[in-house]
Amino acid sequence: KYDTKVEIQGSDEIGELGKAFNLMTTKLFQVEERRKKFVSNVSHELRTPMTSMKIVSDTLLSSPSWDEAIYREFMQDINSEIDRLNKIIDSLLYLVRVEKDELELDYSITYVNYLLEWVIKTLNPIALKKQINLSLTANNKIQIHLDQEKMQQCLLNIIGNAVKYTPEEGSVTVELVDMRDLIIIKVTDTGIGIPEKDLPFIFDRFYRVDEARARKTGGTGLGLAIAQQIIQLHQGTISVKSELGSGTEVSITLPKK
Ligand code: ADP
Repeated sequence: KYDTKVEIQGSDEIGELGKAFNLMTTKLFQVEERRKKFVSNVSHELRTPMTSMKIVSDTLLSSPSWDEAIYREFMQDINSEIDRLNKIIDSLLYLVRVEKDELELDYSITYVNYLLEWVIKTLNPIALKKQINLSLTANNKIQIHLDQEKMQQCLLNIIGNAVKYTPEEGSVTVELVDMRDLIIIKVTDTGIGIPEKDLPFIFDRFYRVDEARARKTGGTGLGLAIAQQIIQLHQGTISVKSELGSGTEVSITLPKK
């Protein structure tokens, strides 16, 4: 039980020990709070589509004589809620998998340029539909050790967000920079941006800046949590700068090793 916090104070050795103890209980308290919040978030996220499916199916069952058109429309609603549920569950399972400490990365030597080209090719149809200019700049070819499958997923989430949160006719630029001991991947978009007050939380699981808008764009709020976890497994860093209304810049660094 970490619900009640005990504070030990004093300036002598016992006091020092007390400080360490206080820090420890605070940490345990935070971990426990985080776990509770996660469980309640998961329940909420799963319940929302369930509730709307229940309402729609109850309505359908309430009368035996619905028009076929209405019937189809309602079934379509149920169908897209099922898709949404599946997406949340898939992302959750993936996140839990990459969060497991014992998870070993499947390292192989990889050209980061090709990896980025693959991600851009995958996202290009969506960008084209919105007339977004999605481009890659790189000075030279860089090979590093990484887990291809996981890094693909991570970059898909980040560059996918840039495309998703950029309005029509905007641009998304991916830049690969070769430093001595590390590489930098910078993703810059001319999108809607993120309010300053939300920036500290965007890597939190299920955190979305605008719940209603994110729902419409089909987000789960898990994409950045997954991306951050994968970067950390590779001993890299990820940071975000953003200006509301003008765009966002995500910077990733990865050690060359
Ligand atoms: P989602 O699945 O909702 O996109 P993410 O974890 O990928 O969830 O991102 C969390 C939130 O951060 C998003 O809901 C969105 O509000 C915000 N966000 C992420 N990337 C961008 C971006 N490039 N531009 C604007 N907002 C962004």
